Amino acid sequence: MARVKSLCVFCGASGAVDPVYRDAATRFGALLAKAGVELVFGGGRIGLMGLLAEAVMTGGGKVTGVIPRHLHDFEIGDRKPLGELHIVETMHERKALMFARSDAFAVLPGGLGTLDETFEVLTWKQLGLHDKPIVVVDTGGYWNPLIHMIERVVATGFAPPSSRDLMRVVGTPEEVLPLLASLPEPSLAPPSRFTS
Ligand code: AMP
Repeated sequence: MARVKSLCVFCGASGAVDPVYRDAATRFGALLAKAGVELVFGGGRIGLMGLLAEAVMTGGGKVTGVIPRHLHDFEIGDRKPLGELHIVETMHERKALMFARSDAFAVLPGGLGTLDETFEVLTWKQLGLHDKPIVVVDTGGYWNPLIHMIERVVATGFAPPSSRDLMRVVGTPEEVLPLLASLPEPSLAPPSRFTS
């Protein structure tokens, strides 16, 4: 069984969303802290990202953020960063470091940035570059169109049926850690350029 010590969470930088999404982010942060799972995330203090990281900190957990220099003012501003913060130069460096520091990924509702980050780890997995678990949290059915799109991609022959297995879908944050604990250890060592 896999022991996930650090979890990278992708989620929205917007907080102007239904409370159901905000509440799920806060609950998830509290659960990570309680379980002693380190949060690796984009470092921002805004939106669901901020709520999630604040909840981990409030619960006494460990937080590691990775932010590109040019987004520092927008996503953190003049407030104190949450947890340990790594400042990098580019978006690509951000994603590479978040990847290297994590044993698995979880995806909460989010916007285009969340989609970008999610598809990068999905496609890296499809290409055999890693074997880390990816769990999508489908709060209120938010990710249904994404799940249907992947079904369509497979049904039309643009991806093999095995692409369905690249990610697992759960309905609530409460299901993420039990699912991760039940999965086998990743069998593939990531290539050296993805390790820190
Ligand atoms: P969003 O889902 O659009 O609210 O964005 C969530 C987070 O993803 C924010 O911290 C964005 O800065 C980040 N983000 C957006 N695009 C990228 C990208 N290409 N690479 C890395 N992070 C990104």
